[in-house]
Amino acid sequence: MIVLRHADELNRLDALRQPGPLVLVPTMGALHEGHLSLVRQGAALGKVVVSIFVNPTQFGPGEDFAAYPRDLEGDLAMLDHAQVAAVFAPPVEDVYGGPGEVTVRAGRRAEGLCGAARPGHFDGVLTVVAKLFGMVRPDIAVFGSKDAQQCLVIEQMVRDLRLPVSLIDAPTVREPDGLAMSSRNRYLDPEQRTRALCLSRALARGRALLESGRRESGAIEAAMGEALAAADSIDYAAVRSLPALGATESVPDGPLVLAVAARVGPARLIDNVALRVELRGVTEIRLLGHRAPAGD
Ligand code: AMP
Repeated sequence: MIVLRHADELNRLDALRQPGPLVLVPTMGALHEGHLSLVRQGAALGKVVVSIFVNPTQFGPGEDFAAYPRDLEGDLAMLDHAQVAAVFAPPVEDVYGGPGEVTVRAGRRAEGLCGAARPGHFDGVLTVVAKLFGMVRPDIAVFGSKDAQQCLVIEQMVRDLRLPVSLIDAPTVREPDGLAMSSRNRYLDPEQRTRALCLSRALARGRALLESGRRESGAIEAAMGEALAAADSIDYAAVRSLPALGATESVPDGPLVLAVAARVGPARLIDNVALRVELRGVTEIRLLGHRAPAGD
């Protein structure tokens, strides 16, 4: 496994480009089994480069940039046992050095949900993802559908800027009791860890209502909100269309996402499930690859 700690070493990736494809798995480190599942999916497609970079521009003032868990040695030890060809773990100056006047502005998909709760967050995400694409020049990039809005916003950037990279969305990896794995779960004490289960339970509640034939978004969102009562505060409990992330009064047949975000103790946690609602029933689906309606 090649470890690149500086951007000026990136030419060492050239040895991995033939035979391709080169697959990028971007992360912020503090790795867990969810990240490793992205690596495994990438390794089935080509040679995997994992980037480890806690991106300052996607954190708002008062958010956890300084406190975000950093454990490069632990991460490298974990990746050494995975099918990883290279790790790119640059310092902030190598990514943001220079005047830094040009950034990416996220489109309409970034307006609600986490975009509303975290102003500027997705501009920061897209800017760093564009930089990582420019530096690593992958053929394929793998993102977790755990961060559903992030996946969709990146998909829109790749499409709109005609970036020559294919995107793969990987399913959310959960703890046995349903909690979505997250680096931020490290912030939780045992009591908070128990309460954090309310996120996956809220999604199950929303899904059960859809399965029972309910279609009013307001009622489904209210029921998910009730299920989140164990959280310290709720950012959102939402039913949104795919891929546009639009809100509708009544759930139409087709792809949708149930999405929740809530604070439990010091951690802001998110979770979601992508579903297709049809007359025949409700099935879980992949997040990406749904055709965007004209104008989205
Ligand atoms: P992060 O390090 O939190 O920025 O995440 C890096 C990548 O791993 C993103 O594409 C995330 O969506 C993905 N990811 C995080 N948690 C999970 C999980 N529990 N299951 C699958 N993918 C995940």
